[in-house]
Amino acid sequence: MAKKTILITGAAGFIGSHLCERFLGEEFRVVGMDNLITGDLKNIEHLFKHADFEFYEHDVSTFVHVPGNLDYILHFASPASPIDYLKIPIQTLKVSSLGTHNLLGLARAKNSRILVASTSEVYGDPLVHPQTEEYFGNVNPIGPRGVYDEAKRFQEAITMAYHTFHGLETRIVRIFNTYGPKMRLNDGRVLPAFIGQALRGEDLTVFGEGQQTRSFCYIDDLVDGIYKLLFSDYAKPVNIGNNEEITIKEFAEEIIELTGTNQKIVYKSLPQDDPMQRKPDITKAQEVLGWNPKIKRSEGLKITYEYFKSLTKDDLYKKEHNTFEKYIR
Ligand code: NAD
Ligand code: UDP
Repeated sequence: MAKKTILITGAAGFIGSHLCERFLGEEFRVVGMDNLITGDLKNIEHLFKHADFEFYEHDVSTFVHVPGNLDYILHFASPASPIDYLKIPIQTLKVSSLGTHNLLGLARAKNSRILVASTSEVYGDPLVHPQTEEYFGNVNPIGPRGVYDEAKRFQEAITMAYHTFHGLETRIVRIFNTYGPKMRLNDGRVLPAFIGQALRGEDLTVFGEGQQTRSFCYIDDLVDGIYKLLFSDYAKPVNIGNNEEITIKEFAEEIIELTGTNQKIVYKSLPQDDPMQRKPDITKAQEVLGWNPKIKRSEGLKITYEYFKSLTKDDLYKKEHNTFEKYIR
């Protein structure tokens, strides 16, 4: 039987690169696409020798062309870290709006099923806890995070519209904070920030009083949830995340223990609109997909720490991502 072909956008990023590996492992032909704005070819260079892997360097906010048959599309291209989308706000808005439109058009033309990466940020600074898929959210459209949150909300709306009006096979995953190997050490997200600081012998910077909560999911669990959702027949949004909640202060203490650093915690001001509480209600994923997170934080953090320790000094001290200059004008 001929292999199925899947297009993965954001392939050189953290989650995209893990998805490429998983689908190659499942005997798919994988077409990766990325413009490298926040990603890195290093994340996928080991895949280039694979006969079933191809890669296109392309900005999906412009017209997307892929020759031949496409059975599935995973749209994962988008900056995902608050400091990234503050630096490249317009590109962030474009990739989840214009980019999603282009990929939905491609899916229609190729008769493919498409799954788009949404986020817990559609709930904004939530007033309902834990967050269920039925909650509409509390988003400030014109705040600093609005460029990401509103683009993702638009992405969900246009994806649903293609499903309803064109009968397109669509899936929407709402991803909660995910971590693991191949995150960019300098992307500003809390886990690489803390581990990077510990490895450089710097104090760990907790924003606010550190009483805000997050619930961290290990990458392999997320990828498994995405895989199950893609092959389910459920078209409404599904939360995928770990429901073990922790305050950021406690998280910093865990990283101090994990790394054995002598550094201490220092407190910095809380960024505007930083959500105070975040924890997914995963009943839907459990019931519809039979999915549950399996990897404990202690286990996932150990694997991730080993990865960060294996990086070069250059990576450890790099302040800016190398392609930002090309895009920031
Ligand atoms: P990432 O920055 O590591 O990866 C994103 C990738 O998309 C990068 O390789 C980047 O170069 C690429 N990209 C961005 N704009 C593009 C464009 N216009 N054209 C082509 N490629 C483009 O981030 P990630 O953590 O891997 O996130 C991947 C997806 O998952 C994003 O859509 C993000 O919103 C979503 N998500 C992630 C998390 C998380 O915790 N990591 C949480 C919620 C949602
Ligand atoms: N945070 C922190 N110190 C850092 C980086 C982040 O205290 O050096 C906090 C941030 O304010 C937020 C939480 O950690 O409350 C998670 O931040 P991240 O950027 O990882 O993701 P978010 O869930 O906010 O999108």
